[in-house]
Amino acid sequence: MRYIQEYCIAALIGTIVLAAMYFLKRNYATRNNRLFFAMILINLATSALNIVSIHTISYPERFSPFVRLSVNLVYLWLYNLLAAVFLLYVDSLTRIPRFKKPVRIYAYFVTALIAVLVLLSPMTHLIAWFDEALVYRRGVLHPLLYVTAYAAIFGALALFIASRKKFSRYQLLSVCSFILGNVVTQIFQLLYPRYVINNFICTLCLFFLFTAFENQAYYLYHTTMCYNSLAFVSTIRRDGRRKMPYRLTILQLGHLRDSAVMTSRSSASQFSTLLAGRLYKAFPGRVYALDDSTFAILEESRSRQWNPRIPARANACFQEPFTIVIRRHEESLLLSPQMLVMTVTEHFPTGYELLDFVRQPDSFSIPEIPDEAIDQTLEPLRRERKMLQLIDRALQERSFQVYYQPIMNLEAGRFRSAEALLCLNDPQEGFINPEELIRVAESYGRIEAIGLYVFEEVCRMIRDRKLLDQGIDYIEINLSPRQVRQPDLGDRLVSVMKRYGVSPSAINLEITETAEIMGGEKAQLIRFMNRMREEGVEFSLDDFGSGYATMNSLLQFPVSLVKYDKQILWRSMKDPSSMTIMQASMQGVRAVGKKVLVEGVETEEMEKRLREIGCDYLQGYLYSRPVPEEEFMRLIAQ
Ligand code: C2E
Ligand code: CA
Ligand code: CA
Repeated sequence: MRYIQEYCIAALIGTIVLAAMYFLKRNYATRNNRLFFAMILINLATSALNIVSIHTISYPERFSPFVRLSVNLVYLWLYNLLAAVFLLYVDSLTRIPRFKKPVRIYAYFVTALIAVLVLLSPMTHLIAWFDEALVYRRGVLHPLLYVTAYAAIFGALALFIASRKKFSRYQLLSVCSFILGNVVTQIFQLLYPRYVINNFICTLCLFFLFTAFENQAYYLYHTTMCYNSLAFVSTIRRDGRRKMPYRLTILQLGHLRDSAVMTSRSSASQFSTLLAGRLYKAFPGRVYALDDSTFAILEESRSRQWNPRIPARANACFQEPFTIVIRRHEESLLLSPQMLVMTVTEHFPTGYELLDFVRQPDSFSIPEIPDEAIDQTLEPLRRERKMLQLIDRALQERSFQVYYQPIMNLEAGRFRSAEALLCLNDPQEGFINPEELIRVAESYGRIEAIGLYVFEEVCRMIRDRKLLDQGIDYIEINLSPRQVRQPDLGDRLVSVMKRYGVSPSAINLEITETAEIMGGEKAQLIRFMNRMREEGVEFSLDDFGSGYATMNSLLQFPVSLVKYDKQILWRSMKDPSSMTIMQASMQGVRAVGKKVLVEGVETEEMEKRLREIGCDYLQGYLYSRPVPEEEFMRLIAQ
């Protein structure tokens, strides 16, 4: 019978080698690895017990029935335990949040139950016992051992199949072979009980798992579940071989260093870990942490078109605050990165060039900020969070108000239009600055809802107040470029106008050119504008002369009115050459058939000068501040 034991001895030696290899690899104490080590230990114990058990069977006279029974029962229990730990191991590899609890309950509960049943078996005879003639007998619940072990093993298989996309083919193969190996040897064992090979096969499978998953550590970024730059480079290489174009969205957190978010290395790494978790959820298996401050979302795609869904989904990861412990205090902060989207169709030969290209040259070194400065640095972030709370509440309770600022038509000598401006008067915080409000709303994806709210409010007001009969031709509504990212914005606006029976000519939309509108977005904005103009809605170019809104925008966007920024007027009042330039530019704008409006008219003197140089409309505190609906109606009735 000796050759039977040899498989067990080989298994024992193999497992010892495996354990040694495990220990030779350092820094290696993740949950996966601890569970894997538990499997090694269990396999070690079962191999040893198997040898003893074969011995007891071969020489029954040397062992008491009690020892023989115990060896057998413990062996059975360990086999069950191995299945349960394997289930936990696969759960820990796959990390599907939904399954975490049921898996643990099952594994712990079943192992405990089997342990109790096995322990009581000599009394209860439920699992196995020796009868009076000292014959080994199986109890009624004996099959339960197999049922539970296989339930765990196949449960693990199901978990793995559910998240197969996260793993390489080799890894898939290693897990499947573990499962298959165990099933096949069980069957083999039933057919040929003389060949005790199950521990041996199990050891081989563990080796396989070890090589498949131990390496995974090399491909994972140390603080996150994301792949690292090594994985990134190898994916790029694979895509290059397959001639697969890909699209990259890069999130750069480097600038947060200056914006006072990262008060310490620890808060920075907490943030990047939290962020990685969110990104991973949004883009399973496609997020790469290139370094502490750079994440890449890689998307293989045959289409060369710019796809707004990816940055939008990435953006959505920043819409809830991040709770970070800073010097023992929990702070929940709103943070957002710089985002760069690029479609890469040219292949970078090795991927390393691409990596150099997307990484910022300066690494993410964070200065430690002294305690007393922390409050100061966190203040703007707390304020942003507060602002977002106010916005969300106002949206929920529909407590935003729309104020109207009348616009003087110089030719008619009276108000014939007005600008709708958002206003929020919070019971606790008082009057909120619209500029700040809009900025926060834009950063955290609330501007779409606010924009629609204002649009609807204005339409309701035009209908309720029969505004066109009151001598007002149209209302100007501010449109944020972000709103235009919604592909169905045009349809929505048209349907609101229809619902309120408002003529499109009673609406004028104000657009501002900002740094944000680039490439694909600009084309989208122009398409939207043309579509709305076909409906009869006109456009104005807001804040002309400030920032990005310059001659260039005037040439590109089909607007009928140009609104000069108040800063231009104010500077011109002090500086004659600015006035000359403004005048000349206005003449040019009017020569191509567009109307001209100047904002920020605060004094009679300003009005006088502007009349002289020839404007169509004036807007400013001289005539009125933005006022609530009732007051506006009183104003125009005068
Ligand atoms: P804007 O579109 O340039 O709006 C004109 C701003 O100038 C208003 O500020 C208005 O109160 C102010 N203003 C008008 N005349 C004078 C004046 O004579 N002197 C001075 N000092 N200021 C004057 P407000 O209401 O604080 O709005 C600020 C910005 O917030 C707006 O600038 C606009 O960019 C944004 N905003 C306001 N409401 C909305 C909205 O419904 N949607 C969007 N997307 N943005 C809005
Ligand atoms: Ca405006
Ligand atoms: Ca403006």
